[in-house]
Amino acid sequence: MKVHNILEEVVNEKVNDMYEKVKSMPTAWLTCDCNQCREDTISYVLNRLPPRYIVSGRGITHQAVLEDRQTLADIDALTIEGMKKVALSKRSYHGLTTNIAVKAPTGPAFNFPAFLGSVSDGDSFDTIEGAKISLSLESTLADMIDHTWLNPIITSKISKGRYSFWVKPISTSKVGEQKNFNFTIEISAPKYESVQYTFSVPVVSTKSAELVYNATYSLQLPTLCLFPTEK
Ligand SMILES: [Zn+2]
Repeated sequence: MKVHNILEEVVNEKVNDMYEKVKSMPTAWLTCDCNQCREDTISYVLNRLPPRYIVSGRGITHQAVLEDRQTLADIDALTIEGMKKVALSKRSYHGLTTNIAVKAPTGPAFNFPAFLGSVSDGDSFDTIEGAKISLSLESTLADMIDHTWLNPIITSKISKGRYSFWVKPISTSKVGEQKNFNFTIEISAPKYESVQYTFSVPVVSTKSAELVYNATYSLQLPTLCLFPTEK
């Protein structure tokens, strides 16, 4: 059985189309459209959409996604957002063919699951736009695996209060070492009381840093509610 995320092909196609479209217009911000930049944008978009898994060979194609206008609009908006972020952050990493591997630890490492969560208004359960969500590891802002994962994250209309973090692997001396890592998520938004959520993740070190996103190794965090400050 082969399972795959149908959004991958749709996003891949949409991002490449958008690069061609933007290239043909006079824009100041698009400074590069190499494969690395395109792949970064694809990964930026995919990291911010809930995956849709299908089993290959069952006759379902990505046609279903292409008929879903809301998802298409979200993909377009995220694509432009991603292209701009990639173009802006270009200077710090561009030109490194393996930008992840260069910074990742070599040898045994603690690999973290991706953390997935969402935030909503505790009274109305509405989406909160502009909420700032930061993830700390042992009280220091946690490093993300690469520049397409942001910390802190600001929630937008598109993300519907959802957020995700993927913490960079931490090197260690041996394989099979078990350690508890204490994380804190802090959420603040204008006109709301801030919220903190602390959780601990036990991780056993493996022989190398895991740099390929594995959707089955993720941790779903409870929805965190923010309550309006008193008037
Ligand atoms: Zn480039």
